[in-house]
Amino acid sequence: MPTELPTAAAVAVHLDALLATSTVPDYPPALNGLQLDNRAPVRRVAAAVDLSRRTIEGAIAAGANLLVVHHGMFWGGAQRLVGAAYDRVRLLLAHDIAVYASHIPLDCHPELGNNVLLARELALAPDRGFGAFKGIEIGVQGAVDVATAELVRRADAFARTHGGTAIATPHDTPRRTRRWAIATGGSASSETLREARDAGIDTFIVGEGPHHTAVEAPEHGLVVVYTGHYATETLGVQAVARHLEREFALPWSFVSAPTGL
Ligand SMILES: [Zn+2]
Repeated sequence: MPTELPTAAAVAVHLDALLATSTVPDYPPALNGLQLDNRAPVRRVAAAVDLSRRTIEGAIAAGANLLVVHHGMFWGGAQRLVGAAYDRVRLLLAHDIAVYASHIPLDCHPELGNNVLLARELALAPDRGFGAFKGIEIGVQGAVDVATAELVRRADAFARTHGGTAIATPHDTPRRTRRWAIATGGSASSETLREARDAGIDTFIVGEGPHHTAVEAPEHGLVVVYTGHYATETLGVQAVARHLEREFALPWSFVSAPTGL
């Protein structure tokens, strides 16, 4: 175990290799990797879903100087550093806090990914990937034999630990789940619902999605379980922080800032 504290750059090199940052495809505003450097060595890590004023203030309160997030500083695309965007950067610089972001690399990772970890939370065992995106699969799927209502209950219990609720649609069908898929975050769309149907999925667990996906679900024979964009993406950043604790002996904490969605 190293005795010297690592720089943010050294932590980023380690995480980029672990998460395959340079090869996993993503949307350009994700800008995965070290987004903001700092001067002092990393002494404590804060993990959060979103980079926001709330989570920066949470990191400051925790005494952290590396903030690991899923949705990074540039999520809204290129923007002028004025108003709220300026305030965020000023706060980060004033407290010498580095920012490391990992979006899809942290969704699809086989050990630290949001999708495999949500499956574990729901006591589901994946047997293959799901959710095609630019040549990779982001989510997971598997077989089970459980009452769908029981699966919804588990998803709801999980969502409630992060300030949300799980909503299943259609919600009044007494049936069993034999084949499920998980795609965390804003993953329900006409395309992913069709992909689920074509893969023989009967229960599709997502973060969130537009209203029309709830209309389409029964037409594909699917129950879609909306478990919350925020809740379903709390697991990966915590797994990364836990990994850094093992690797670099860095203490860490989770900055809870639920959106309710
Ligand atoms: Zn997301």
